[in-house]
Amino acid sequence: MGGGMMQPHAWRWLVLVVMVLAVFDVRLYMMASEARQAALDRAQYTLHVGVDVLAQRLDQQLTTYDRLLSGIGEAVRLRGRISDTPDLTMHRLLLRRHAINPELRSFFLVRETGVMAEVSTAYPLKEVDVSGRDYFLAQSGSGADEDRLFVGQPIVSKLTGQYIVPLSRRVENEGSRFLGVVAAAVDPGMLTKMLAEQGLPDGYVLSVFLQSGQGMACYPARVDCLQRKVDHTPLFRSLLPAEARGQFAHQTLLDETPGLAAYTTSSRYRLVVAATVDEKTVLVPWRRDLGNYVLIAIAGNLIVAGLAWFAVNQVQRRRLALLQLAHANQELEDRVLQRTQQLKRSEDRARTFMNTARDGVVVIDSNSCIVEFNRAAENLFGYSLKEVLGRKIDMLMPQQFGAEHRDYVQAANGATGVRSGSRGREVTGLHKDGHEFPIDVTVGSSGEGGQSFHVGIIRDISERKRLERELQQQAATDGLTGVLNRRAFTAKSEELIAVALRHDRPLSLLVIDVDHFKKVNDVHGHPAGDAVLRALARMLGAALRTGDVLGRLGGEEFAIVLSETDEAGARDAGERLLQVVRAARIDHEGTALHITVSIGAAVLRAGEDGFAALFSRADRALYRAKNSGRDRLALERAEDAVA
Ligand code: GH3
Ligand code: MG
Ligand code: MG
Repeated sequence: MGGGMMQPHAWRWLVLVVMVLAVFDVRLYMMASEARQAALDRAQYTLHVGVDVLAQRLDQQLTTYDRLLSGIGEAVRLRGRISDTPDLTMHRLLLRRHAINPELRSFFLVRETGVMAEVSTAYPLKEVDVSGRDYFLAQSGSGADEDRLFVGQPIVSKLTGQYIVPLSRRVENEGSRFLGVVAAAVDPGMLTKMLAEQGLPDGYVLSVFLQSGQGMACYPARVDCLQRKVDHTPLFRSLLPAEARGQFAHQTLLDETPGLAAYTTSSRYRLVVAATVDEKTVLVPWRRDLGNYVLIAIAGNLIVAGLAWFAVNQVQRRRLALLQLAHANQELEDRVLQRTQQLKRSEDRARTFMNTARDGVVVIDSNSCIVEFNRAAENLFGYSLKEVLGRKIDMLMPQQFGAEHRDYVQAANGATGVRSGSRGREVTGLHKDGHEFPIDVTVGSSGEGGQSFHVGIIRDISERKRLERELQQQAATDGLTGVLNRRAFTAKSEELIAVALRHDRPLSLLVIDVDHFKKVNDVHGHPAGDAVLRALARMLGAALRTGDVLGRLGGEEFAIVLSETDEAGARDAGERLLQVVRAARIDHEGTALHITVSIGAAVLRAGEDGFAALFSRADRALYRAKNSGRDRLALERAEDAVA
């Protein structure tokens, strides 16, 4: 098969598969994009929490330092002034405070003149002028607030040359007179460490600024962190003036590219905490997972496509199998058709053969039902094929033969194989018009048991029978006169005698002989003699009663058996015959001939044993009639029996 054209059902399959794949892929895409959004949301939350927590911690830390400085300031206030000379007591106080907070670089005091008075890290201290520093200027001015901690921008220490973040408080006496400034130097590294302790994932950037935009600390640390002034950035130019805190999915906070961002401010210490992260960085794990999504998608698509291919393949194979089956069926049908045609041809041949046969052919099945009936059979029985098909064979024979035929068929059914049946069974057929006629049937059987059938070849033997009858009649008849010849007459007589004897009925025999017949021959010729004999036979025959039998015994001698006739009857009959012959005028070629006959009569006697004895007595009586002068009747006498 492997057709180029796609079948309609294959299209349906394809659409189904594409739909399943589409649903699967869309779902997968949605999951991937949800995961992406979740990663972004998580990052934003991390940023938000990160800046909030960091701001709180910075506040706490600075509050702690504020209290420390406030405590030292209280001590200075109690002493009333900051000594102009090194003050060991004060130095020890600073030293103790420093010992408790070793993360600070130093605690120090500045006199009202701006000259550094004491520092926790050295004693005695060579004088250093810090009057120009912000942390001093902010607290020494007239408008400065005694309770406010100043957080300064990172600066390089004049004492150590290191970067510090200065914290300072103004110290006043009871009369609110400015006594000096108490300050602490915070290591910017410590701030960086606090940022690091937030534990934000890689790629996140945390920064702390003064509200002025001055950089304080950043993590991951960068060299320009402390010198950085970012007041020109969006955070300081537009965001902070509008809102003290904020978080964004896509925002440029400082001078980096737009990304996720959050910031918050500590109003107490004028600090801004900002955190940013690159979207790409946030999405790194998601991108890693994306590979898995793609793998799942590819695998899923392949599996669905594979299953679909397998299913379509199965369906195709089933269709192919069905087609092959249909093909095989067609072949089988063709063969059956071919065989049927062959069979029909052979049947036609058989029918032609049957119908050209001169004999009738009748085929019956094991139930004696007619299945074949050829044309000759139609002519024979007067029925058409249609009229007899399926009907019992009994319809073709007189009723009395039916039972005999059934027995015959049953016996034939029992046997097996092909047998040529009995030859020439002579039976009687029944014509449609009701007349019976003799037929000769040859029967052949074939098959087994219930499947067997019987073929009858039927020949009409009416003509043969007629000929036989004719021959029989000829054999019994005298050729010249047409009456029974001697043999037939004798046989017939014997029958009548037997009947008469059985029923004890009378019977007589007359023997008739022409007188001087030789003369007729001599005078008129032999043909004339023959004519006389024929005429005599006619006369005798005409004079007979039914039941009487006339025969020619030979020459010019005839005999008549008279049934139911005793001696008197025989006498009457004989006399009547004598009279008839005497009166007859026999014409032969223009000549009228006259004859007389002599008759000898005998009567059957009880116990007599047959024709021979009866004839013998009648013949003796005839002899006497001749001798007595002819043209007369002589009855038997008692002495006739003796001789
Ligand atoms: P009767 O009986 O009176 O004593 O004299 P008859 O002349 O009849 O004597 P017989 O019985 O001896 O003669 C019989 C003759 O009949 C002899 C024979 O030629 C003749 N005959 C016998 N059969 C036939 C026949 O078939 N046709 C003819 N034409 N003549 C026959
Ligand atoms: Mg004679
Ligand atoms: Mg004679």
